[in-house]
Amino acid sequence: MQDDVSTILDPLNPAQREAVTADQGNRLVLAGAGSGKTRVLVHRIAWLLQVQDIRPWRILAVTFTNKAAREMKGRIEEMLGEPVGGMWVGTFHGLAHRFLRAHWQDAGLPQQFQILDSDDQFRLVKRILKAMELDEARWPPRQAQGFINSQKDEGRRPEHIDAAGDFFQEQMLRVYRAYQEACEKAGSVDFAELLLRAHELLRERPDILHHYRERFAHILVDEFQDTNAIQYAWLRLLAGERDNLFLVGDDDQSIYGWRGARVENIQSFQRDYPNTEIVRLEQNYRSTGTILGAANALIANNPSRLGKNLWTDGSAGEPIRRYAAFNEIDEARFVVERIRRASQDEGRARSECAILYRTTAQSRLFEEALIQASIPYRVYGGQRFFERAEIKDALAYLRLIGNRNDDTAFERIVNLPPRGIGPRTVDLLRTQARADGVSLWDAAKTAVSRALLPARATGALRGFVELIEGLAARADAEQELPDLVAEVLEASGLPAHYEKNKDGRGIERLENLEQLVEATRRFAGEVPDDDGDILGSFLAHAALEAGEAQADGFEDSVQLMTLHSAKGLEFPLVFITGVEEGLFPHSMSASDPTRLEEERRLCYVGMTRAKQQLYLTHAESRRLHGREEYALPSRFLREVPAELIEEVRGGGVSRPQGGTAGMGFGAGGGMGTEDAGEGFRLGQRVRHPKFGDGVVLNSEGGGAGARIQVNFETAGAKWLVLTYARLEPV
Ligand code: ATP
Ligand code: MG
Repeated sequence: MQDDVSTILDPLNPAQREAVTADQGNRLVLAGAGSGKTRVLVHRIAWLLQVQDIRPWRILAVTFTNKAAREMKGRIEEMLGEPVGGMWVGTFHGLAHRFLRAHWQDAGLPQQFQILDSDDQFRLVKRILKAMELDEARWPPRQAQGFINSQKDEGRRPEHIDAAGDFFQEQMLRVYRAYQEACEKAGSVDFAELLLRAHELLRERPDILHHYRERFAHILVDEFQDTNAIQYAWLRLLAGERDNLFLVGDDDQSIYGWRGARVENIQSFQRDYPNTEIVRLEQNYRSTGTILGAANALIANNPSRLGKNLWTDGSAGEPIRRYAAFNEIDEARFVVERIRRASQDEGRARSECAILYRTTAQSRLFEEALIQASIPYRVYGGQRFFERAEIKDALAYLRLIGNRNDDTAFERIVNLPPRGIGPRTVDLLRTQARADGVSLWDAAKTAVSRALLPARATGALRGFVELIEGLAARADAEQELPDLVAEVLEASGLPAHYEKNKDGRGIERLENLEQLVEATRRFAGEVPDDDGDILGSFLAHAALEAGEAQADGFEDSVQLMTLHSAKGLEFPLVFITGVEEGLFPHSMSASDPTRLEEERRLCYVGMTRAKQQLYLTHAESRRLHGREEYALPSRFLREVPAELIEEVRGGGVSRPQGGTAGMGFGAGGGMGTEDAGEGFRLGQRVRHPKFGDGVVLNSEGGGAGARIQVNFETAGAKWLVLTYARLEPV
């Protein structure tokens, strides 16, 4: 027993230990990046189980990703030396789904309700706009989708919205209503609906609420700063008066405001539960002193902060390295070259290296450069396996087998592979379904039995109906999920269809379908609580898994991801790329102070992922939206103290040569605005007697040999020897 307790407590500092062993009571661990918040949460659960003898099923723990949930469970089991069954650990969405599965009837859902992922949702919204004869150019489906989701995130049903007088709102409201009706009919539930419905169920059913309040003796939440209104409301309902909330978070890492997350929940929590004890952790265990100093200096530029200290007793470590690439291709080349050196010369595992970027589109060049260098990599949270077209096709068969009212699935596969059911037939079915208020499936069955369509169409449709019914019968009889999926695939005709496909991706698609069978095999092996409907559980898993599993490859590979998906993770070597005005901070955010602060927090999150080495790279020109654009280095670079940064040139490293020959410029110290007077800065506008006006792009060498590259408005980009160039600042 003593040993077990020391496994839990020894790896903690006094402040962490106090939080882990605290008595019952609401607690908010408010602390900076890398201070051990997640560690505290995990050890707290182990402590509750081991020392307080809390049964696992009495614990509810919320993580930000499914992967984090798996890791959390794994670490607790490691500490306790035994499996822990029955604990509710997952994301808000995962937990809400679990809850609705258990209470589908009370929630007014069909037992086989299906989850719409955002791509499915988008298609459905498009179909609805079309049925309502709303022009997509005027009413973009993305906007309508965004409207629906943000209303749901705030807990609003159509009847709660007063759009009177506002034409735009009125239209959106009509779309929301029609969309909701379609979902109800099909028995499908989008991500936001999972949360909203779970909340409504608790609110409207005191008996169910009572049950869960009794059950969950402890509720723990990681990354609390990124909860939205409905998630917080759900937590409050569940907790009731029990004073059993243990929340950890960092206001400086709130990066999902654009998606409805509310960092104000941190303040609301302290107001709503005045007896909350605030716990602060100030020692950072992750990063070197230099990295931490840089991150602290950066975030200090945000005016609205709750304020925290963060220190480390680790060494200062290496300087942060900054590279000004000529363009985005040069940037990718540089990063990949540094990774190659790190793994070959310094013996770093490739998985210790992470490339972070602001937008997903940036990954492509890094991928190409990595492929060229034969370095294995994984794109984390990139296109999900379950989002690939062929996988969605196959899943649509499974979904329709599970729930015949799933119109989205029906539309996807009714004529895939082609079986002679043309768009006209489908249109007729849609009209019929709408008129009778039934699903497409029911409309199809009626059309077949009453022979409402031309003979050929009827025959084709009958074939489809019989195929699905036959497969559904097999599903009822077949106990093993992988076997069932293999059977369905074969009968669907999809593999043969892709094999014939001439787009050159046939083999890849076939391999992916095989992977799907593999995925079900793995899933069947580790499904946590089998409630008898393993197909349903698997389909939910496919919809909720957010591409995280891809990063768990067997091969040692470089990790690529957006800054957003890097939250909570850590790597010895981190590259933050594209650190340019317009890209990071993103152009959509630069002029709005609130959003700019969020971008800065995102940069803080990125920097604090690094344990030992951090690179910040930016390109002086970049193809964006099909155009070549010149970009200024990001203001975030200026906000990091210059003495913590070392400039890197293509090949080696050169320290800024401030003042040499009066030319304190260069990709180096040039960024320090202080030498702008005598020298030139990258991005600075200059005038040349012959070439006219231009922008400083690059520089190399020092002293008399220093050269400077300027992109002239009319003459184009030129390298000039600085001593002779007779450039003037404009
Ligand atoms: P983030 O805000 O980025 O989510 P966090 O506050 O959750 O960070 P953790 O991920 O829990 O921090 O911890 C950061 C790193 O420090 C991890 O590698 C963790 O194992 C380590 N660590 C935490 N506490 C201690 C400690 N007391 N002694 C040694 N290492 C620690
Ligand atoms: Mg954490």
